[in-house]
Amino acid sequence: MPTETKNVYVFGAARTDGDAKMKNILGGKGANLAEMCRLGIAVPPGFTVSTEACTVYTEQGKDAVFKLIEAEVLQGVAFVEQEMGKNFGDSSDPLLLSVRSGSRASMPGMMDTILNLGLNDEAVVGLARKANNERFAWDSYRRFVQMYGDVVMGLKPVSKEDHDPFEVVIDMLKEKKGVELDTDLDTDDLKELVLRFKGLIRARVGREFPTDPWEQLWGAVNAVFQSWNNDRAKVYRELNDIPDSWGTAVNVQAMVFGNLGDNSGTGVAFTRDAGTGEDLFNGEFLVNAQGEDVVAGTRTPQQVTLEGSRRWAKLAMVSEDERRTRFPSLEELMPDIYQQLLQAETKLEKHYSDMQDVEFTIQEGRLWMLQTRNGKRTGSAMVRIAMEMLRQGIIDEKEALRRVDPERLNELLHPVFDPIEIKKARSIAHGLPASPGAATGQIVFFADEAEEWVRKGKDVILVRQETSPEDLRGMSVAKGILTARGGMTSHAAVVARGMGKCCISGAGAVRVDYHARTMSVGNETWAEGDWLSLDGSTGEVYLGQVATKEAELTGDFGTLMDLADHHKKLAVRANADTPDDARAARTFGAKGIGLCRTEHMFFEGERIKAVREMILADDEAGRRRALAKLLPMQRGDFEGLFREMSGLAVTIRLLDPPLHEFVPHDEANQKIMAHEMNVPLGVIKMRVDDLHEFNPMMGHRGCRLGISYPEITEMQTRAILEAGLNMKAKGFDVKAEIMIPLVGTVREFNAQARVIRQTAAAVFHERGEALDYLLGTMIETPRAALIADSIGQQAQFFSFGTNDLTQMTMGFSRDDAGKFLPSYLKDGMYERDPFQSIDQKGVGLLVKMAVEKGRSVRPSIKLGVCGEHGGDPASIEFFHRSGLDYVSCSPFRVPIARLAAAQAAINNE
Ligand code: PEP
Ligand code: MG
Repeated sequence: MPTETKNVYVFGAARTDGDAKMKNILGGKGANLAEMCRLGIAVPPGFTVSTEACTVYTEQGKDAVFKLIEAEVLQGVAFVEQEMGKNFGDSSDPLLLSVRSGSRASMPGMMDTILNLGLNDEAVVGLARKANNERFAWDSYRRFVQMYGDVVMGLKPVSKEDHDPFEVVIDMLKEKKGVELDTDLDTDDLKELVLRFKGLIRARVGREFPTDPWEQLWGAVNAVFQSWNNDRAKVYRELNDIPDSWGTAVNVQAMVFGNLGDNSGTGVAFTRDAGTGEDLFNGEFLVNAQGEDVVAGTRTPQQVTLEGSRRWAKLAMVSEDERRTRFPSLEELMPDIYQQLLQAETKLEKHYSDMQDVEFTIQEGRLWMLQTRNGKRTGSAMVRIAMEMLRQGIIDEKEALRRVDPERLNELLHPVFDPIEIKKARSIAHGLPASPGAATGQIVFFADEAEEWVRKGKDVILVRQETSPEDLRGMSVAKGILTARGGMTSHAAVVARGMGKCCISGAGAVRVDYHARTMSVGNETWAEGDWLSLDGSTGEVYLGQVATKEAELTGDFGTLMDLADHHKKLAVRANADTPDDARAARTFGAKGIGLCRTEHMFFEGERIKAVREMILADDEAGRRRALAKLLPMQRGDFEGLFREMSGLAVTIRLLDPPLHEFVPHDEANQKIMAHEMNVPLGVIKMRVDDLHEFNPMMGHRGCRLGISYPEITEMQTRAILEAGLNMKAKGFDVKAEIMIPLVGTVREFNAQARVIRQTAAAVFHERGEALDYLLGTMIETPRAALIADSIGQQAQFFSFGTNDLTQMTMGFSRDDAGKFLPSYLKDGMYERDPFQSIDQKGVGLLVKMAVEKGRSVRPSIKLGVCGEHGGDPASIEFFHRSGLDYVSCSPFRVPIARLAAAQAAINNE
């Protein structure tokens, strides 16, 4: 009886029901297999059971779905039988099948593949006779029982630490025989393995291995449907926002064999170079092998093309003679097959208008394509392929911009590990990839010693429990920074990103012993001076020295950026505190500075002494004396910023952190300070105690400092405006913006604004010349966002400090969240770290509200964001939709933000 809806879609030479547009019902793999058939490419025939059937399985159970699809599956198998000229279940010349899952979105590792389905004790004999190859037949049977026993019958290791029980049996047999490789096992060994595997299944699962091919097939189909709801798949879906309702398709396909002798083989190929993006067809294959052998790496694969083969030989230092005789390319070895493969890959790339990654099998001189999909690629390949395809007229500008994942530009901006060397290195720990890049150096534990070592010409990795502003200089000279504590917005992470310096934070397994000057992981310990290598892009900590190479900014990269600027609506500025940062930011295309954190200037060299003098002063007069020393230094800094950013806005924020950050907390350094400042140690200790706060993040900081000590605001305003006038006199185009931090009430803003305006009036009067400047505020307390209309009547611009806004809205601190956030993320409590990607529903709502309120009272108000989120693509998309004017991020993220802003504009047209 025909069913009402179609559940099974066949693909083959005679007929194909589906196509590439049907990913929702056929899954990615099934849709592409159908599409290849439609293009006239030889694909082993098969059929796809729809994702809708999976939904029936989930909702109504196995019996209901089997009843629904039974007749169609029988027809599907009959279709394959006809295409292949063999019968399923025929023991003299059996048709064997593969069964694979495949959902709409790629879900790596959700369910493993089952190959050689249909074999049993009789069919294996038929297969051996037909193929005239007994070992091949028994090896196929052995692989089938192993895969089926694991995936369908559920024979798993008893504990996490336990090995794959089948592999244990294989290892025991190899040991008994004194051989090393699976290929050393002969037909009798393989027969013994099949027997033992079945025994193992019987003992552990309590059921016989099914001999009936149909029972095998239904078992496999059931297992695929079931896998949609296993824990692994559920967690993956939750984390990747894939709805449960999508379901998975089941692909059943005729087996073809690459291991039937010297005119058979199997391989993978890419239509372009996945590493460099070069428009060069390339790939690897093995003669007389099955797919998994290429991946397993036990045999050296040969190259598909002659050109690739020659290049490989050069790298592997293999002579042309040896190459030709021992490792010939497919192009040389099977020229006809090669031509067919070349035609298929050309057709596929053109058809999908993207680089394809294909799998193929050659069975006794006949080529079969097993899979095609858009190929994974490196960041630089991504850029090159997108731009070349644009030039080749394959895609348009918007598509070229969409093709590049902004995050992957990271790889083009920082030094990288030599890809060959890193494979040999040993990873000893893992932390958060806080700031990308590759760094190699000797371990030091103290910032001042880092400086000392670097002065002596050494490369160092600064290893800390956590970092503090006192470590700034040490951080700036280190090649990389590793901390045991802290999250993505911890001090180390923020500062390192700003510096474009490689940093791994929160490597929880690392224990730092400052006394012994050692770090350990588990029961291994390393001392000061030992070599470490950090991959800030992956969070991997390696032992020893790994060679790095400088990043190359190719021409395509520049063209991509120009394109991005053409399409984006948001401007991109940089968070930069020094002229060097500003210059780097401008090179990366920043259109101004969105945040200069003036406190960073306070730590440099002699300045810290003046800052400390100010902190120790008993009265205003004493503070003013100290501030007078700071004034020329700050002025000099600002002059540098205005010079580098001539013509572009520079937003300078008044002092923000609590004063205790500027004094030492350990006695040794307090003694040094006492000596330097010529005051008794007791006085220092008392002042440090005075400054102690239980929760400094919510303490005496931000505009609260300027309100307590208006003379600080006065000095900073003077430094900014005098610097501006000086640079203007030298012909630079100065666009200063003064920003008040951590405002929560209109009165706070007004109090600080009054000091700023009075100081400005005084400076302009003294100099006989004025300078245009804007006066605005950070919006970083929830209250400020809530009353943004009142504040907007006073402030000329808002810059959202989403770091503080996040911590205050979520109710957890940037510095302590590292204790629970990782497990929260793992459990899916939050989808993403809210310090990394803005919490759109909560914190984002405050941003949106403040934007509306601000604009309602002052339509011309300038709106930007300068928290870490300003460099995060998902957040940038949100800021675009919220109607901000600009985002500001660390210099090294400027290109990422430019591209993300362009994508946001294109995707929201
Ligand atoms: C913020 O809070 O988002 C911000 C930019 O300021 P800071 O990180 O210096 O507190
Ligand atoms: Mg802040």
